[in-house]
Amino acid sequence: MRRAALPCATLLATLAMAGGAHADDEQVLNLYSARHYQTDQALYDNFTKATGIKINRVDADDAGLLARLKSEGAASPADVILLVDAARLWRAEVDGLFQPVKSATLEQRIPAQLRGKDDGKGPQWFGFSTRARVIVYNKASVSKGDVSTYESLANPKNKGKVCTRSGSHPYNLSLFGSLLEHMGPAQTEAWLKGVVDNMARDPKGGDTDQIKAVASGECAIGLTNTYYLARMMRSGKPEDRSAVERVGVVFPNQQSWGTHVNIAGGAVARHARHREAAVKFLEYLASDSAQGYFANGNNEYAVVKGLKINNPALDAMGNFKSEVIPISVVGMNTARVQQLLDKVGYR
Ligand code: FE
Repeated sequence: MRRAALPCATLLATLAMAGGAHADDEQVLNLYSARHYQTDQALYDNFTKATGIKINRVDADDAGLLARLKSEGAASPADVILLVDAARLWRAEVDGLFQPVKSATLEQRIPAQLRGKDDGKGPQWFGFSTRARVIVYNKASVSKGDVSTYESLANPKNKGKVCTRSGSHPYNLSLFGSLLEHMGPAQTEAWLKGVVDNMARDPKGGDTDQIKAVASGECAIGLTNTYYLARMMRSGKPEDRSAVERVGVVFPNQQSWGTHVNIAGGAVARHARHREAAVKFLEYLASDSAQGYFANGNNEYAVVKGLKINNPALDAMGNFKSEVIPISVVGMNTARVQQLLDKVGYR
């Protein structure tokens, strides 16, 4: 579910934020968020209730937020930036949009591989939740063994069956960036070409649209993040639950490098005026209660180790082996991936 970014509302929010900076300095937090999940409101309200710090929020997609931060420069009112893709977090760090944060709480709660690189001053970003990118298939027309790996999406036996959202959407760019690392450029190009050759239709829609198209039989095979599946499994709408019942889920590459996992994370903005509140907010996102919101509200995987979370949909999908690959590598590879997509005509 993507919220429309209304230019007028955005402008008003900016004005409100500029005003906030003059007023009571540490009681306001200006949040730029690419998280597009309705359940997050409770996550933010809980922080305000606990700290008295009011949150002014600007919503846009990852690319929109990064473009905006760049154009605002040192005048940006942003204190905290939340992004929902590893490659975007990496890009923002490289572009100098974040600042390092030293926090014993974050160091203790967030696993080292889910934090930005620490060159002594602290990491520039932290992952607060993860999501796996899995293969879904129509149980009536595809057997699980035919889709057990990402490689299988390009297998000629799956011709005319595969549906995906746009190849250059961040979720796919990051997946393909990881495949580039595992398979190398020549094999990745051949693979992308194979996926395009296997498509049942031109890329369109979001992840939920792929799940529904697989359920209806318009497509037989698709790609989705796990939380979209869990959301449908737990939906109050009977048609969502019956659709997802027709769909099988595969955590790909369990016999090789493991399933691709992406992160949603946050950082303190380079020019944050409310730095103390910003760090407090990041520490809050690592708290048990906030981790519970990620896992139960939006069906993501919590990152804090040893936390007991019961999410029936995530539990039903089961445990899996995830790939081990530095996020910076995925980020660096995405530029190359875009060239390959253009070359093979993957829109
Ligand atoms: Fe999403």
